[in-house]
Amino acid sequence: MEILKIENLRAYYITSLYGVERRVRAVDNVSLEVMENEILGIAGESGCGKSTLLKTMIGLIKPPLTILGGKITYKFDGKDIDIVSKKEEISNLRWKVFSYVPQGSMSVLNPTRKIIKTFEDLLKVHLKIEGKEEIKRLSEEHLKALGLPSEVLTSYPHQLSGGMRQRVTIALSTLLKPKVIIADEATTALDVVVQRGVIQLLKKIQSEFKNSIIIVTHDMGVHANIADRIVIMYAGKILEVGSAKDIFKNPLHPYTKYLIDSLPKIGDKTFKKSVPGAPPSLLNPPTGCRFHPRCSMAMEICKENVPALIDVGNGHKVACFLYSKEAEIS
Ligand code: SF4
Repeated sequence: MEILKIENLRAYYITSLYGVERRVRAVDNVSLEVMENEILGIAGESGCGKSTLLKTMIGLIKPPLTILGGKITYKFDGKDIDIVSKKEEISNLRWKVFSYVPQGSMSVLNPTRKIIKTFEDLLKVHLKIEGKEEIKRLSEEHLKALGLPSEVLTSYPHQLSGGMRQRVTIALSTLLKPKVIIADEATTALDVVVQRGVIQLLKKIQSEFKNSIIIVTHDMGVHANIADRIVIMYAGKILEVGSAKDIFKNPLHPYTKYLIDSLPKIGDKTFKKSVPGAPPSLLNPPTGCRFHPRCSMAMEICKENVPALIDVGNGHKVACFLYSKEAEIS
């Protein structure tokens, strides 16, 4: 069952300078489903639109970011709520239906307040719990369920390590047991041992609470460790979607192949080729397939037409004319 459905979403950054309008096409006609109880990884180079896609999912849509079309529908309690047309619903859904784990834990934790105060704020505002003892009990219970020490509650953020702060941020974002947890580069800037701890925590949360997790990171190694399904984004578009097994064992899109081939393997000392060229500007992206200027397999059709995202079997979808000549309808 789907918990979140995105249909034909176009989210652009629109600015105007001296009367000249500029449109950065960060998310361009993207459709995607997130299923119940799955960990969905969204991968791609920096600037490919994955963080903008994530912002739209949590309703962080403020100018210059503008939705030009499409739907973002959360399905819960037997209702379908499109947060594009019903913006007023966003605050009702936040924390209970979806929550957000940002990249920098310090942007959530107030450096001048003990951690328990942030737990208190959430419980007071959203569950109307006022008693200090009850707040302490619920906070400790939640940390215990996640295998985190309750002593962190009496600490200030600066007294914790970066890894523990990130885990506390994840604990906070799951306090109200949301159906969907959306994590933006939650493991970036952490060393590998701490990264492993954060990945294990996310997996534990998913298996305990049976919710869905969307994890956005450019790090394919993290996706290999955690994701059930993976979405590959490039220049504002989805190029490939599939189970983690299919993406790693049988990548189809030339760009995905580069991403997988560039991963280090134990004992393999061969030179790893990176993707040739640089990602395009989303202000003026290439015509046709946006990857064509960097693709060694590019054909004439690739320069003029945008390949449609086609299911090639078993839910494995790819947008490339090597597999289907079907073009996207704009
Ligand atoms: Fe390469 Fe063409 Fe496929 Fe794009 S559509 S990835 S340019 S072969």
